[in-house]
Amino acid sequence: MSSEVFDCIVIGAGIQGSCTAYQLAKNKQKTLLLEQFVLPHSRGSSHGQTRIIRKAYEEDFYTQMMQESYELWAELEKEAGVELYRRTGLLVMGPEKSEGFSKLKDTMQRHKIPTVFLEKQEFNEHIPNVNLSEGNGALIDTFAGVLYADRALRAVQRLFQCSGGVLKDGQTVTGVSPGAVVTVSTGSAVYRGKSVVITAGPWANTLLTHAGLQLPLKVVKINVCYWKEKIPGTYSVGQSFPCFIQMEPKEGEYDIYGLPSNEYPGLMKVTPDQHFVLDSHPSYGNIIIGAGFSGHGFKFSPIIGKVLSQLAMGQVPSHDLSPFRIQRFQSQSKSSL
Ligand SMILES: Cc1cc2nc3c(=O)[nH]c(=O)nc-3n(C[C@H](O)[C@H](O)[C@H](O)COP(=O)(O)OP(=O)(O)OC[C@H]3O[C@@H](n4cnc5c(N)ncnc54)[C@H](O)[C@@H]3O)c2cc1C
Repeated sequence: MSSEVFDCIVIGAGIQGSCTAYQLAKNKQKTLLLEQFVLPHSRGSSHGQTRIIRKAYEEDFYTQMMQESYELWAELEKEAGVELYRRTGLLVMGPEKSEGFSKLKDTMQRHKIPTVFLEKQEFNEHIPNVNLSEGNGALIDTFAGVLYADRALRAVQRLFQCSGGVLKDGQTVTGVSPGAVVTVSTGSAVYRGKSVVITAGPWANTLLTHAGLQLPLKVVKINVCYWKEKIPGTYSVGQSFPCFIQMEPKEGEYDIYGLPSNEYPGLMKVTPDQHFVLDSHPSYGNIIIGAGFSGHGFKFSPIIGKVLSQLAMGQVPSHDLSPFRIQRFQSQSKSSL
C-alpha cells in the first residue's frame, strides 16, 4: 500500500463520478478517479450519443436544480472548447386532466420557464406530422434540447486530468474499508482517501455491501425512441422537430421519451420513488453516495458533481438535498450497521 493519501477517491467514471471528480480537482483537492473498465466503455449508463436536457419537471426541486445545471453545462462547454448542448425544444404531451401533466404545467409557470402552451387547434401548425391524442394537452419547453453524451463524458474526464486529477481505468474496486481514512482496494492496488464518493451506477449496491448498506434499487425498462430520419427533412432538428415526452401513454406504464440519435445507452436502476440518492453514508460521514439516477440523471450531472463534491469536502451543499436522503428508505434499506 502506498503511503500517499488522497483528499478524495471517486469510484466509477460514469458522468456522475467524472463530474464529481472534476469539481473536486477544480477545488484543489487531490483526487483519484477509479473505473473498472478500460475507457471509453459502453457498459454503464453514460455512453451513447445524446440525452435530453430540460427544465420541464413536475417537481420544483428538479426544475430549480436545472436552472444552475444549464449554467454549469455552458461553463463546461467554454472550459472544454466543445459544443455539448443543442437546443431543439421539448414537446411534452400528456392527459390534460391528469395530476402529472397539470403539476408539470404549474411548475413551468411558477418558475417562469420559457414555455409555449399549445392549444389543440394550433398543435399541427407547430408540430406537423404528429397527432395529439384525444384528451391530451401539449406544451413546449423551448430551451430544452440534447446533450452530446459521449462527448461530454470525454470532455469532463479530460478537464479533470488537466486540473491535476488522477484517472485510473481497468481498476475494479473490490473492497472499501471505512475509517477516518478510507481504504479502497482493487485487484492490483490499495489506495487511501480522506473521503470516498461512490458513483457506481447500476453497481452501487455491490460496492455499498462493503460499507454495510444496501439501497432499494431495481432495474426498470424505460421507453426511449431514438429517431433517425428515413426521408431527409421530415423529422429533423433543422426542421424544428423537437425532442418529446408522452406522459402516461395508453400503450404502457412508463412515459415515452423521444430524441434524435441512433445509439442506445444501457443499464438503469431506480429507487422506489424514482428520485436520486445524494447523501453521506448513515454511519460513515466521509463515504458519500450518488446513486439511483434512473433514466433522467445525465442533464443534472454538473450540479450533482457540485453537491457531491461539497459533501466530500465537508461543506454544506448549495442545494437542498432533503428529497434525496437515504433516510427516506428507512424501512427498506438493509443496513448491517
Ligand atoms: C435508456 C436510457 C436513456 C436515458 N435518457 C436520459 C435522458 O434523455 N436525459 C437524461 O438526463 N438522462 C438520461 N438517462 C440517464 C443517465 O444516462 C444516467 O442517469 C447517468 O448516465 C448515470 O450515470 P452514472 O455515472 O450514475 O452511472 P454509470 O454511467 O453507469 O457509471 C457508473 C460507473 O461506475 C463504474 N463502476 C461500477 N462498479 C465499479 C467498481 N467496483 N470499481 C470501479 N468502477 C466501478 C462503472 O463501470 C461505470 O463506468 C438515460 C438512461 C438510460 C439507461
